[in-house]
Amino acid sequence: MERIKMTTPLVEMDGDEMTRILWQMIKDKLILPHVDLQTAYYDLGLISRNDTDDQITVDAANATKKYGVAVKCATITPNAQRMVEYPQLKKMWLSPNGTIRSILDGTVFRVPITIDIIKPVVKTWEAPITIARHAYGDVYKGVELKLEGAGTAYLAFEGRDGVAQRQVIFETPEGAGSGDGGASEVSGAAEAFGAVILQGVHNTERSIRAFARSCFRYAIATKQDLWFSTKDTISKTYDGYFKEVFEQESVNYKEQMDALGLEYFYTLIDDAVARVIRSKGGFVWACKNYDGDVMSDMISTAFGSLAMMTSVLVSPDGPVEYEAAHGTVTRHYYRHLKGEQTSTNPIATIFAWSGALRERGERDGNRDLMDFGDALEAVSLETLNAGMMTQDLVGLVEGADVVPQSMTSAAFLDEIARRLATKLA
Ligand code: NAP
Ligand code: MG
Repeated sequence: MERIKMTTPLVEMDGDEMTRILWQMIKDKLILPHVDLQTAYYDLGLISRNDTDDQITVDAANATKKYGVAVKCATITPNAQRMVEYPQLKKMWLSPNGTIRSILDGTVFRVPITIDIIKPVVKTWEAPITIARHAYGDVYKGVELKLEGAGTAYLAFEGRDGVAQRQVIFETPEGAGSGDGGASEVSGAAEAFGAVILQGVHNTERSIRAFARSCFRYAIATKQDLWFSTKDTISKTYDGYFKEVFEQESVNYKEQMDALGLEYFYTLIDDAVARVIRSKGGFVWACKNYDGDVMSDMISTAFGSLAMMTSVLVSPDGPVEYEAAHGTVTRHYYRHLKGEQTSTNPIATIFAWSGALRERGERDGNRDLMDFGDALEAVSLETLNAGMMTQDLVGLVEGADVVPQSMTSAAFLDEIARRLATKLA
């Protein structure tokens, strides 16, 4: 059988540990038999990043800008323990995902992969809920102070034009600490407040606008409604500005959204949480940085498992990068090194490949490649729904006619490969 041709390469970012093993197996068993794969290959494994002083990560991100579509394997972000494990490391290299994200200026969309025989915890959810998390600023780039004693805290800005602005955040009431009201009175006031803690956070129009644009683009590309939520009733200026920017951008995308029958919906974060739980799912929920951090873990757990969650980085300028949301599954890798056949779930990584290949096909007008992406996903889901799965999912199956069966990664991929060959024949 003729293999499917590609006209533009896909940026391929290889990674670490168990996911690197799965990566090769997925290519060998599922993709290479059917696709004449053209990739711009970048080895983002820790050793290669160390050897190139992390230049390889920058090169991979720039290649994604050039070619438009990338697929990435999970990678180790070194910490103190990894420095001991890999003594050859020249330094504690930064998170590759962070480096790529800062070059592509993108937003991360986390998408649960759902199957019939694993029901979400929330019974009303019929379709996946995608979380779009703003990944810049707020408390993640905040500065904080803890102070003892009386005084005044200000929020201050010194303009380069010499214009300064200042607002009082908090002031210890008169008398406290002034020394004229008697020692016991003073200490009494200070004790009443105890320490004072302060937090300064920021964001920028550029980043918020890029976030909003990525969200509208993604909602349109995946034909889903877009929800956005903040606490603008309380945070009138800060959260209010997020709301304003989203509203401005919604005007720019209205025609495209209308044509697809899609809606942009804004509501308060607490109202959104209540509505999400009562909803049928099937929309994109854009969240500010902290809300997205918390809510994405809630959503992924409620849909089943981290091993069933993909992640797409969408740059406001067009490039996209697909990956699994989970890490390198270190514990399984050490069992693999001992010669054990592990039952590590390859689904999120398969969907990273299928998503990237379909997107490549869509951009190149390559119908065969798009169909291949669809077929790969369809047979993967079909295999799972037949009860053939990795160990992590077995306990999640409920009320199904099939008896779930735990398989090794290799046997599971072989079964998907068999079904894929049949489907494509
Ligand atoms: P992890 O690799 O996601 O694994 C945590 C645990 O979750 C595993 O030990 C396993 O549980 C379960 N798990 C995750 N994915 C699974 C899969 N596909 N199939 C079956 N079980 C799965 O997280 P981690 O152990 O915290 O991090 C390991 C390394 O990954 C770190 O070096 C971190 O820097 C890196 N990381 C990379 C990315 C990325 O590149 N996007 C993201 C997160 C973490 P059991 O052991 O109980 O089976
Ligand atoms: Mg979190």
